[in-house]
Formats: sequence, C-alpha cells, structure tokens
Amino acid sequence: MRRTLFLSLLLAWEMGCNPPHSGEADGGLFDSGVASLPNSGVLPFDGGSEHDAGVDTDAGFVAFNPGPMPTGALQATSGELTVMQLNLPTGATLQLGEAAIIVGPDGTVVLLDMGNSSHADEVSAALEQLNTTVLTPARGFPPRSKLQVEWVVITHFHGDHVGSAGALLKSNDAKALTVTKGIVHRGLVDLGANAVNNGAYNNFCAAVTQGYAPKNRPLCIQGGAAPPCNTAQFSGSYAATSCPGLTQGDMETSSDDAQKLPAFISLGGGARLTFTSADTYVFDGQSTQPVASFGVTDNEHENARSVSGVVSYGDFRYHFGGDMTGGGANTPDVETPFISKAGPLHYGAFGADVIHAHHHARDSSSNATLAGVLAPIDGKSRNVIAGINSAYGDAPSPPVLATWTDNNRLQQGRLWITEKGITGNANARVTNAKGPVIVQTVQHGVGYWVQAAGNSVSSQAYESVRHVTAGH
Ligand SMILES: [Zn+2]
Repeated sequence: MRRTLFLSLLLAWEMGCNPPHSGEADGGLFDSGVASLPNSGVLPFDGGSEHDAGVDTDAGFVAFNPGPMPTGALQATSGELTVMQLNLPTGATLQLGEAAIIVGPDGTVVLLDMGNSSHADEVSAALEQLNTTVLTPARGFPPRSKLQVEWVVITHFHGDHVGSAGALLKSNDAKALTVTKGIVHRGLVDLGANAVNNGAYNNFCAAVTQGYAPKNRPLCIQGGAAPPCNTAQFSGSYAATSCPGLTQGDMETSSDDAQKLPAFISLGGGARLTFTSADTYVFDGQSTQPVASFGVTDNEHENARSVSGVVSYGDFRYHFGGDMTGGGANTPDVETPFISKAGPLHYGAFGADVIHAHHHARDSSSNATLAGVLAPIDGKSRNVIAGINSAYGDAPSPPVLATWTDNNRLQQGRLWITEKGITGNANARVTNAKGPVIVQTVQHGVGYWVQAAGNSVSSQAYESVRHVTAGH
C-alpha cells in the first residue's frame, strides 16, 4: 500500500517537474555527478520497493530560503535531517572522546560512536533529553522509550569511540540504551592486541556476541574461529576475508541482498546513511576490495580501518569516516585509495556539503586528495566539523587547518569544532563552539544550517552544493 502511494507521488512529481530534475528521483544516492554506475552489470539503483519515498523532495523548483535565524539551539524537527556532534569534555581523568547523534526526518536515531568510558553520562543524557523532550508525539514523532536508539554505528575499536559500551550496551546499567534495529561495525576482524583498546573492545565484543547478538551487524567477516573478547587471548589477527555487509542494500531487509547495492540505513523521507567503506574495503559498483594493506599491531592501524559513510537527504550530503588516516604522522594512507575508489560512486563531482574531519582534525588525516574530492575548490561553500576535546593535543593541527581553509576552499563555510585541543590551533575560518555543533537540513536538503551550540549560539545557513548546481 505504501509503495503504491509513493509510486503515485513519484509519477505526480515527475510529471509536474519541468524539466524533470534528472538524477534525483533515486532519493539522492547516485546523483553525484556520475551518469551511471561504472559497471552496467550492476543493476541501476532505482529506489525499489524498499526505498521509502524515492521522490525528489526539491523537485519542481524550490528556491533556497533558510527562514529566520535560530534564536536557540536547533532541535530535531520532523521532516528534516539533524546531525549533532556532541561535546564530550575530558573530565577528571582526561579522556579523549567523540560521538554524534543523527536524527532522520522520520525520527530514526543513529548513534555514531559513543565516546569514552567516562562519557556514558553525557551520551545517555543527550539521548534521554532528545527522546523525552524533542522526539515526542506532540512534535510529530512516534512514541519512544527514554534511551531508545534505532541504530548504533561504531567506526573502530578505540576507547574514545566505543569506550562507553561497558555502560551503554550493558542491559543492567542505568544508562543502558535500548537499541531497536542494529549495531553496525566493521566486524570483529583484523584485530591487533596492541591496536584495539582492550577494555573498550572487550565490552563491545561481549555486547554484540551476547545480549545484542541478534542485532549484531558486522560489515566484514573472517573465516576461522571467532576472536575472543579478551585481547590477551588473541591468536593471530582474524583477518577479514570479505565485506558482504557493504553490499546488502537496505539493512532492514534481506530481500534485496542479492542485488548487491550499497548498504544503507533508512532515515525516513528518502534520507539514508550509506556505508562507503569498512576495514579499508570499498565497493566501487563492481566489486568490494581492500584498498590498502598493512599490519594490525602498531599505532594508527586501528584508525586506518575506520568505517565511513555518507548521510544524504535530497541534495544534501554529510560525510563521516571515524579516524581514517591519510598518511600524515607516519600513518597508513587509506584516504587516498579510499576516495579514489569510492569517489565516483558515492561522492561524485560535488563531494559533500558537510565533512566530518577524520581523526579529530589531527595531522594523520585530512590529506589533500581527500579534501579535493569531498570539497573541491569550485566556488561553492562547504563546512567541516571536528569532534575534539582538550585532551586531543594540537587539534586542529596546522596541516589540517591548511588543507581545509587555504585557497578559500570552503568559501563562506567554516571549520566548526566542539572544542580545541590543549595546544590546538585556529585561524579566522574556525568556529570553536565550546559545545555541540549541530547541522540541520532546510527544505528537505535544499540547504542547511550549521550551528555552534555552546553557551553562545551562532548559526549560518548554506545552500546545498547540488542544489546550487542544479541552477533552478
Ligand atoms: Zn578517535
């Protein structure tokens, strides 16, 4: 019934759009500047029956109008996409940590990383406030439990990203979340005892192999006996053999898995979170292959294996990639081969509107090749966000500042940070929120707000780069 309704809407939209706004009827995955998939042997992405509203939300000429300047912190709103980069203070024990909450147009909540063991309080409190005061029936959302999240996505197994699993994914903890759909991660693969943080990995591994086993959604798999949750008992590295999770299409159903479409989480209204890499494996439309090769024991290899993805709604695109490294500070360069392979399929000629800076804007990451694809110097405004707390040393580091802000790359856009490292750097293009940084689409992705939501609130509106380009 729903499909019939949407097909009717789609027809109505297409007939009413003059000329048809080509390339957007797919809900936004492939209108990235490429005419078609690189391999005609792969089915073109047509939305299909699983695609909940494959309509072009800005079809039929919608001029960008951000409306009045927000007077307070932006709250998730029905019909729009909201991404909140949380501010996670170091606390008394000086712990690193970052986390983001994504709220889809239908109220679907994705927790993207979850901070350190000391950050369970902040993450849990942010979700409780969201569920009990914002995502309410009175504001147009379905009823929710107070710590409900539909999906958890973990980019990698370092403590600053998954350390709070010991509380948040443990059923008997007062701060425990209720995850209703799935916990996505690269898989318990390519594990180095000296690369993953034992306590964080141990708690996460226990959660996804015990209480949350039915909701465990690894993107990559390994061939032998399952790895133990205690890193001291590792024998070997549990090397990935493949990443079938990257091509499972809609992650809520197995009925489309045979089509080998990019894996995505539906966020409602045609918005989605599409996975673009895991464990250095990238699907390019033809096959899923690792783009880089290195060990599992030394420093930064765990970062290099981060899961990445793109969150899309209408013309809007937000890229994230955990702590993926780009060759700086003697790290493995995954950013270059990743973007070379994923770029044509997922990012196209226009890259992204908002880019989450890998590895907390440290000098290991944000290399020039990555920046050139995600934020080409084309006269359009884009924004970069970094999740930093004061324990992250010199973040944003000078080379990362140069990459994003030299040559007027961001135009009217900015580098927005939740906080500066204790010896962190800044220039005139940096906004230090000293609090959360919030992104919210306007007019279903025609444009968006970026907001520094600390003690003083400052907001800027931007037209999405694909909408500018459409020129209507
Ligand atoms: Zn990190």
